[in-house]
Amino acid sequence: MELPAEPRQGLYVCGITPYDATHMGHAATYVAFDLLNRLWRDAGSTVDYVQNVTDIDDPLLERASATNVDWMDLARSQTDLFRTDMEALNVLAPAHYVGAVESIAAIVPVIEDLLKRNLAYHVPGSAADPDGDVYFSVDRASDLTRASGADQWKPGFISHLGEDEMAPIFAERGGDPARPGKHNPLDPLLWRVARQGEPSWDGASLGAGRPGWHIECSVIALQYLPAPFAVQGGGSDLTFPHHEMSSGHAQAISGVPLARHYAHAGMVGLDGEKMSKSRGNLVLVSALREAGTDPAAIRLAILANHYRSDWSWTSQGLEAAHSRLDAWRAALATATVESVENLLVSMREALADDLDAPAALLAVDRWCTETAHRTGTDDGAQLAADAFDALLGIRLKD
Ligand code: ZN
Repeated sequence: MELPAEPRQGLYVCGITPYDATHMGHAATYVAFDLLNRLWRDAGSTVDYVQNVTDIDDPLLERASATNVDWMDLARSQTDLFRTDMEALNVLAPAHYVGAVESIAAIVPVIEDLLKRNLAYHVPGSAADPDGDVYFSVDRASDLTRASGADQWKPGFISHLGEDEMAPIFAERGGDPARPGKHNPLDPLLWRVARQGEPSWDGASLGAGRPGWHIECSVIALQYLPAPFAVQGGGSDLTFPHHEMSSGHAQAISGVPLARHYAHAGMVGLDGEKMSKSRGNLVLVSALREAGTDPAAIRLAILANHYRSDWSWTSQGLEAAHSRLDAWRAALATATVESVENLLVSMREALADDLDAPAALLAVDRWCTETAHRTGTDDGAQLAADAFDALLGIRLKD
């Protein structure tokens, strides 16, 4: 990512589906985009940061029913836990934190308009599904953007996945390529009409139901940020189909691309294995906090990895972060204003180079060892503490 300084920067990061506690993969994603937020603010920009919360979706309903909990209570409690985790990790809160449910009234007319313009269509029912579900036509949207002369939108434009690679990934990540009656297997759901036992909302001419996942982000992003805004972010598992489809919807709606950059944080494993609920190896931020782990050490362990790389959470990584934190705290006593000003130049350079946090951390480590000719001052210690908090989100003082 090369991002020129601008007085205003728009940032949309895809939020959680609140059916489970925040694990290290989520934490790493939000810490990554928090670094960007902090870097822009440090450069004097005003950052318009928007994040959604997918407070109605299949995984949430499935978990609620499996655990015999009301889906709204589950969503509320997990959203609260997520916010508490983010606060502990010193992630700056978005200016707008917008739920899918509260956005349904805005989503319905957008889908009606896409239907009117032939960019969406109804799929006939079958034994398994009622009549009336609405899908987005990726082929027509692609033709439309080609005709407009803008950069052509089509599935694969960010992920560069081949045609035959897309359908299985689409199926893994919430899509239904095999549903009969679709024009293209990759067409994503825009509106799911009401089913027995599922919550539904007024859909005007669409009939009662609930929106698909991608259109939710498109409508929320367009409501709060002028397109194209600077960055749409998320974990790398959102690249396809979620970011590509939400971008395609937004371009079909507004005529311009959604964002100028699509940025993705790498996946986090545990001790070299993929972290997943089914393997039972999720590292939860809340569990670490309950065990008394300093949240600044959790954050520092995350920052030791470049945001784009896939990496593994390990106890050695956390121990290294604790040692680093101790060394940084000890070095405050030797901080002079001049030494911190020099360090700031190195930290800003590292972060401006595609958010190279590991390089910024090494610059601080070096500064910690170069204490031989320094007699610290109170001003120096305060400036260092402020710099680590402002740029890296690492609080050394309470
Ligand atoms: Zn999203």
